[in-house]
Amino acid sequence: MVSVQRSTIIDAPINAVWDILRDFNGHDRWHPAVRRSALDGGKRTDQVSAIRNFELVEGQRLREQLLSMSDEEYSFRYAIVDSEIPLLNYVAEVSLKPVTDGNRTFWSWKSQFDTPKGQEAELAELVAEGVYTAGFEAVRGRLGDPKSSSRSFMTSAYETSKSSAPELPGKAIQIDRYGGPEELHIVNIIAKAPCPKEVRLRQTAIGVNYIDVYCRSGYFDLLKPPAVPGMEGVGVVEAIGAEVRHLSVGQRVGYACPPVGAYASVRTMPAELVIPIPENIDDRTAAAGLLKGMTAEFLLHRVHQVKKGDFVLVYAPAGGVGRILCQWANHLGAVVIGATSNEEKARIARSSGVHHVILPGARSLEGQVMEITRGHGADVIYDAVGKDSFDHSVAALATCGHLVSFGQASGDIGMRDISSLASKSATISRPNFGHYTDTPEKLAAITTRLFDAILRHIISIEVDQQYPLSQAAEAHRALEARETTGSTVLIPDDIQKGI
Ligand code: NDP
Repeated sequence: MVSVQRSTIIDAPINAVWDILRDFNGHDRWHPAVRRSALDGGKRTDQVSAIRNFELVEGQRLREQLLSMSDEEYSFRYAIVDSEIPLLNYVAEVSLKPVTDGNRTFWSWKSQFDTPKGQEAELAELVAEGVYTAGFEAVRGRLGDPKSSSRSFMTSAYETSKSSAPELPGKAIQIDRYGGPEELHIVNIIAKAPCPKEVRLRQTAIGVNYIDVYCRSGYFDLLKPPAVPGMEGVGVVEAIGAEVRHLSVGQRVGYACPPVGAYASVRTMPAELVIPIPENIDDRTAAAGLLKGMTAEFLLHRVHQVKKGDFVLVYAPAGGVGRILCQWANHLGAVVIGATSNEEKARIARSSGVHHVILPGARSLEGQVMEITRGHGADVIYDAVGKDSFDHSVAALATCGHLVSFGQASGDIGMRDISSLASKSATISRPNFGHYTDTPEKLAAITTRLFDAILRHIISIEVDQQYPLSQAAEAHRALEARETTGSTVLIPDDIQKGI
């Protein structure tokens, strides 16, 4: 029988360390080797006999059962009941003790197990370094222990035992020249080891935004081919640079910002752009809602502060940004008018808080707005359609109304004569996501309000379309053809297939 024991001192109080460890189903939030953890039905995470199902980052699966747990002793024991890695009769114990000279914690992790003949040393090393030592470092990083010197050495437990993975291979969607959806094609990529201020992610979900269409077509110059599009992703921190303080290996994180490059299964990027994702918001929801939700936040709270009783007109109210805007404006007490293209989208708009729907018909958009508002007009108009809608929007405004032109799904609005605004003393804004999210402080303020709105069910982020990453072209085609509602996400193919 093989015996393995490792111990360490964590520079944090015992309760802080125990809070992380006692969650028998929580390893996927902190241990770099564990991609997913799920409890067999009906049991609590601290219930003796509960069985956790691990899917490791390298794809293997194993099941472990909780044998005992003591909050008084700060310890628990568990056993492997099923494993694709040949660890036989494996029983382990985790225990903590307070260190008296300061607010620190002694942590011991030990086990005994059998292995097939000849694999004793290899598997002992795997458990000792890949599982225990890697776990110590991940918890250290999570608790901000300054002694976390090797925070970036881990990739996954099982990779660690094979190589230090200076380069991490993956897949991405690239364009070699500007053009239509057919330019999006899959390529093999390498995510380099992070520099001191960078982070490397294994992505689990990627948001598709209309801005990706503008980048792909060359309308926006945020992307210079050959390059990987995409501005929004969620995943797990796989490695961090030496100067990164706010993230730790194994943490769930996301981002919504330039530089482009999100359409990838692995990515190395500036760490300051990456934020932790709250536990109660799953990866798909975060990837679908970060960029669109932050946009709705600054449009409703910063570009124009919507008030109770305002008449608010939203174009594409069943779309990604539109649906969030409508729910939130309704919550703020506005009378929400949604202008969309068909009955099915009208139904979705109504379920998203729209009080009055405008559909194409015999009467002009401005005629319908004036009728709904009894001649008052819209106090604020959120117009992301652009070319086809601009003149109608100006005509639909109330006196002193505010036209927020924030997109151009139908094409560029071109040159305009602002004297047309004088007849209503109207205001026009052309806000840009980048300017509302370009510092960690702005990002923190905007995401705090967004996450709060999601968690309080003020808004719900609906993922109505999901594609494997390799089918990004189809996702773009559908978005441009006005076939989509809510949000669209891409899932890296190995995750989509459940590999
Ligand atoms: P959507 O899900 O809203 O998709 C676009 C929708 O626009 C369509 O479903 C359609 O809805 C409507 N639309 C109207 N005319 C056309 C047309 N000619 N071609 C295609 N679609 C048309 O996309 P997103 O939520 O990703 O983005 C919405 C808008 O918000 C985009 O214009 C985007 O550029 C803008 N945006 C701007 C930001 C900024 O910082 N300024 C930040 C983020 C997004 P319907 O059928 O109901 O008319």
